[in-house]
Amino acid sequence: MLPTVSSTNKPVKPRFPFLDLKAQFATIRAEVMEAVTRVLESQVFILGAEVDAFEREFAPLAGGGLAISCASGTDALLLALMALDVGAGDEVIVPPFTFVATAGVVARLGAKPVFVDIDAATYNLDPALLEEAITPRTRAMIPVHLFGLAADMDAILAIARRHRVSVIEDAAQAVGARYRGKPVGNLGNIGCFSFFPSKNLGGAGDGGMLTTMDPSAADRLRVLRMHGSRSKYDYELLGINSRLDALQAAILRVKQRYLEQWTSARQRNAATYIRLFEEHGLKDKVRLPMVPPDRVHVFHQFVIGVRNRDALRAHLQDEGFPTEIYYPSPLHLQPAFRNLGYQRGDFPRAEAACEEVLALPIFPELREDQQRELISAISDFAALI
Ligand SMILES: *Cc1c(COP(=O)(O)O)cnc(C)c1O
Repeated sequence: MLPTVSSTNKPVKPRFPFLDLKAQFATIRAEVMEAVTRVLESQVFILGAEVDAFEREFAPLAGGGLAISCASGTDALLLALMALDVGAGDEVIVPPFTFVATAGVVARLGAKPVFVDIDAATYNLDPALLEEAITPRTRAMIPVHLFGLAADMDAILAIARRHRVSVIEDAAQAVGARYRGKPVGNLGNIGCFSFFPSKNLGGAGDGGMLTTMDPSAADRLRVLRMHGSRSKYDYELLGINSRLDALQAAILRVKQRYLEQWTSARQRNAATYIRLFEEHGLKDKVRLPMVPPDRVHVFHQFVIGVRNRDALRAHLQDEGFPTEIYYPSPLHLQPAFRNLGYQRGDFPRAEAACEEVLALPIFPELREDQQRELISAISDFAALI
């Protein structure tokens, strides 16, 4: 649980949840139950036909190519770096404003995460700052498509090509997002997706997917996720155990059939928020999500930026409106990365974002009347300040 700030001591029951997975489950219950039963009847639980089918069905979401499933989005990032042979002495460029896994996997392999600040409007890696962070040791960059908006990939890829650096897309929050007409996941060398239950395509537990157009990378990934083994008791690489469960695959196959519909609902809810902010004359008081015209945002989160964020959040909580903060602290200031020697002030835009961002509920089943009430509450607060 995130710490919450409240201006009063009495706990207020939220009017609706931040994310309503129960409401979603109610609409697909019979199909999910059928899928789970099918797997239980088969008694095949790890990889197998169900997982193969899901990999085949998922691949087009990332623009075709090959899809290799694994045990989580974090493992997808780890396996991608392992497939590129990243290790001690190597540097990997990552943003400081992201989920911990993006940088954590780099450090876990003994390589050095090198942070590069974000663009203040999109919250994504700023390509203008990339070149000065590249050294002869730089092996890869991991742009994150944060909140469901693609990073500026053409600019990033041009720099990566010039310096012969690989690009791994952290698309954990961005399944279905588009950049200049193309879906994310195969814009760089390897794409990484997460099926954590709260993601736009979420399983009933952990799960992840790797996508690539490169058959030899796909082959390495398949070997690496299976103890480095192609055939039983024959270990050609030093791998890990990171496979998708058939139960997850079966459930995700059901949910993928609804993904487009759910994504449209998220986009509709985002458009409604933006219209309501405009109607209340709040456009100058909050920073609304920026969607460059060459991108399709899938709104994993709807994140606004406000100066007095903590006070607004406390006000909304008192009124029964759930919000979240992604992310309250930049990675370069986290104790786990202390040894890298970064200091406050090193990445001012990421640091400012952590003070100002507030995520509003955006789940597909959210109703317009609920959004109206929430924006009214923000408007009341804005009038007070
Ligand atoms: C969720 C997430 C991950 C990790 O995915 P898991 O499946 O939870 O391991 C990595 N990066 C980003 C940006 C994420 O949001």
